[in-house]
Amino acid sequence: MTQRKRVGRTVVLDTGAVLAGIDLAGDSRYFITPLAFAELINPNARLKAEIAVEEGGLKIIAPDEGSIDKINKKTASLGESEALSSADVETLALALQLRSEDETLILATDDYAVQNTAHALNIKFRPITERGIKKQLTWTYICTGCRQEYVKHTSICESCGNMVRRRVKRPPR
Ligand SMILES: [Zn+2]
Repeated sequence: MTQRKRVGRTVVLDTGAVLAGIDLAGDSRYFITPLAFAELINPNARLKAEIAVEEGGLKIIAPDEGSIDKINKKTASLGESEALSSADVETLALALQLRSEDETLILATDDYAVQNTAHALNIKFRPITERGIKKQLTWTYICTGCRQEYVKHTSICESCGNMVRRRVKRPPR
């Protein structure tokens, strides 16, 4: 298979962006970290990503330690540390690192905590399915396994043992 040279934007993806069905066949140059790629256990999303890797449109790159360090410091000062997984930190670090080569870089993510951190670092982000970050954020805690909701921060779900992630509570319409 011949590899077409892509001339479009640099786009860093998180797992959610691939799951949300971002078009990997476009002209952008897509990047994902090893941890985010490893989280792609949904067979369809995984296959789509593997094909994109094979065709050269998606590259799996681990960020350097210096960039990870910068993200950890930033998230600590923002109070976002507990809302971010190591895959999220890696994704943000890769975006920060690649932005030094391409200022127009876009971080494609639906995760509010990732968006919040990107915003603080002046990294452009684009949501795939959500409506983007809101000014006033109220938080809820939802199990990544059984979707049980918690009022207070909990790291492990009492019902199923999966990781609990912080999410923005939607304002009533
Ligand atoms: Zn659970």
